[in-house]
Amino acid sequence: MLTKRTGRPRLDEPVLVLNRSWLAVNVANVRRAVCLVALGHACVVDPDHFSTHSFEDWLQLSVGGNGDCLHALKCSFRVPEIIVLTRYNGRQTRGLKLSRRNVLERDEHICQYCGKHLDSASLTLDHVVPRSRGGQTVWENVVAACTRCNDRKGDRTPDEAEMELVRTPRRPRWASSVTVRLAGRGKPSWQRFLDGTPGGGVIVA
Ligand SMILES: [Zn+2]
Repeated sequence: MLTKRTGRPRLDEPVLVLNRSWLAVNVANVRRAVCLVALGHACVVDPDHFSTHSFEDWLQLSVGGNGDCLHALKCSFRVPEIIVLTRYNGRQTRGLKLSRRNVLERDEHICQYCGKHLDSASLTLDHVVPRSRGGQTVWENVVAACTRCNDRKGDRTPDEAEMELVRTPRRPRWASSVTVRLAGRGKPSWQRFLDGTPGGGVIVA
């Protein structure tokens, strides 16, 4: 938690990034967040009042205010805890990368055939329609499967193997795809944005 203190603020402190709809989409560090604000791509969200402020605005408010400040040349800039993007909706909207990790996250580490919750090492990726049958490597055709189910299914479709999917695979909604584990470094001011995130997207562990 950032409180009034005399130590130097760290540039790698986490800052919550909201998209234009005020949904949590990412966590950046202070360095990146200040750059985005300085470039006009984002506004600082006041952690107490949730009002938004441009770079110049926040500079003015930083003088004599609460919170840690970055000191550069003759000005000081209060360390942001939350920023909201003004010009685009966050990189996640351009498409979440289809990766093993992201598929396992989407499927919540649950084998999509037997429903068992397993660790990453025990899960494989299964093409619902096998590649040999023209199945593509797309969100809608790749699911997490335990090795046992994957072996059992083999080169067959779920129908042929008489195996039912726990749920139909879909491209994840961007907001639920942001998974950030911060080991207790999240800020209390983030809470209201995380509570409303579909699927509890940002995990502050
Ligand atoms: Zn299984």
